[in-house]
Amino acid sequence: MAQLLVLVLAFAAGFALWGLFEYLLHRFAMHELHGRGIMSREHLEHHVAAGWTFSTTHLLSWAGMLLVGFVAWMPIGWALVGFGFGVAVAIGWAVGYFFYEYEHMASHRKAPRTRYQRWLRKHHFHHHFGHPMSNHGVTVPWWDRVFGTLETPERVRVPRRMAQPWMLGPDGELRPEHRDDYELVGTLDRTERLAQLDRARAFASIAPED
Ligand SMILES: [Zn+2]
Ligand SMILES: [Zn+2]
Repeated sequence: MAQLLVLVLAFAAGFALWGLFEYLLHRFAMHELHGRGIMSREHLEHHVAAGWTFSTTHLLSWAGMLLVGFVAWMPIGWALVGFGFGVAVAIGWAVGYFFYEYEHMASHRKAPRTRYQRWLRKHHFHHHFGHPMSNHGVTVPWWDRVFGTLETPERVRVPRRMAQPWMLGPDGELRPEHRDDYELVGTLDRTERLAQLDRARAFASIAPED
């Protein structure tokens, strides 16, 4: 029983460790480097494209992050506590990482389905659209709170050009269910507006309301 508790704690520690790295990598390796280095360049592209693009080197990042878990954290946990502890830390880390990858991608592609997903989108899109030095955590707010970069606006201002397709109805305006969380700002020229309507309609036919 005590052993099981230690493994659960190790898993939780690995999961929390990922959250800290998510924050540090996003803040320092992606934003503070201002486009120097592949991670930063791809991340700035992700911002410029309003989140519709995802890095094509994901297989590399997947492998890299698994490697960090099993080559760095696992031996440290093994040396400090024991083999099982080391493995559980590495698994917690990997689960934290893939959870981040999935939830981040979903935030740009799908409307929220849970309170947590609704929170994550507001938190992350405030960062995306005009406040890149705040909300560096994506899946948890803890580290933004610790480092003083947490911002929780009542409504997130989204430039019309960058509205995520799931936010918009077939008329190109915010769907009523998202109006408490977001407001659209700025204007579109005719070509941009047509392109956006196409995206919103394509999205509506891929992901019908259920
Ligand atoms: Zn994003
Ligand atoms: Zn960012």
